[in-house]
Amino acid sequence: MLKITQFILGLFVCIWGLNACKAPLHQKDELYIVCTTGMVADAVQQIVGKHAKVVALMGEGVDPHLYKATTGDLEKLYEADMVFYSGIHLEGKMTQIFKKMSRTKPVIAFGEGLIHEDLICIDSANHVYDPHIWFDVALWAKAVAYAGKQLSQIDTVHRNSYQQNLGKYLNELHLLDSLNKVQLQTIPPSQRLLITSHDAFGYFGRAYQIEVKGLQGISTVAEFGLRDISELVNLIINRKIKAIFVESSVSPKAIEAVVKGCQSKGHQVVIGGELYADAMGAANTTEGTYIGMVQANVAKIVGALR
Ligand SMILES: [Zn+2]
Repeated sequence: MLKITQFILGLFVCIWGLNACKAPLHQKDELYIVCTTGMVADAVQQIVGKHAKVVALMGEGVDPHLYKATTGDLEKLYEADMVFYSGIHLEGKMTQIFKKMSRTKPVIAFGEGLIHEDLICIDSANHVYDPHIWFDVALWAKAVAYAGKQLSQIDTVHRNSYQQNLGKYLNELHLLDSLNKVQLQTIPPSQRLLITSHDAFGYFGRAYQIEVKGLQGISTVAEFGLRDISELVNLIINRKIKAIFVESSVSPKAIEAVVKGCQSKGHQVVIGGELYADAMGAANTTEGTYIGMVQANVAKIVGALR
């Protein structure tokens, strides 16, 4: 009997020891905000400044359409005081988690801040909308303003600071939007065709008057077929397009097939670079911020198509 008691006691000490060794996710008195994509986390961080700890679950090169929460993510989400995500079914595999979690804490989608008229409708019968809202900078600014309003209502103690930070960030975003327009206008109209791995750039095209074609459709879940490739090859040849693009969060093999298809018909098209689509660049680099990623994309697109 004594041996069993000792064993159970030992087991308790072991489990307690393991938990005690684990580093806490955040300081006890600190507001802890968990976000899905880097773009969402960056915006939230800009608004809260030093008043909260903000973490992003999805890092560099991660595809949010296919992303499934890991055990570590679930720990963070359960520990969080607030959760922010992009929404409009971008994080398709996490929908159930958000639904469940919203019963116990604020779970806010940036997309909730936009009305249907703002969005690109993909399938009107089933009310499906394009989730890539961050590529129209003015539209993203609207979603950021909504997130800022929610933060100010939940954490009222820091409301003034949040509103001040939000105003400053929105000014930066509106400046970025104006600069994008000026730079992209320098591409000759006949060359304003942006071909990428998947349809992430619909809002970008609408905002900056560039025709956009993706090989893989709106979600990377869809497979591309041979028909899509031959259609794109003909379009590139007819329009004498010089460059097409790969994306940081999608496999480049489909776009490489288009380049080969053009070459076999005697038209030279190059890969104009890797665009940041559904994920930002590496942390602690310029491209690891929302503004930096947009600027990097615009510079690559203008450089290759002009
Ligand atoms: Zn996407």
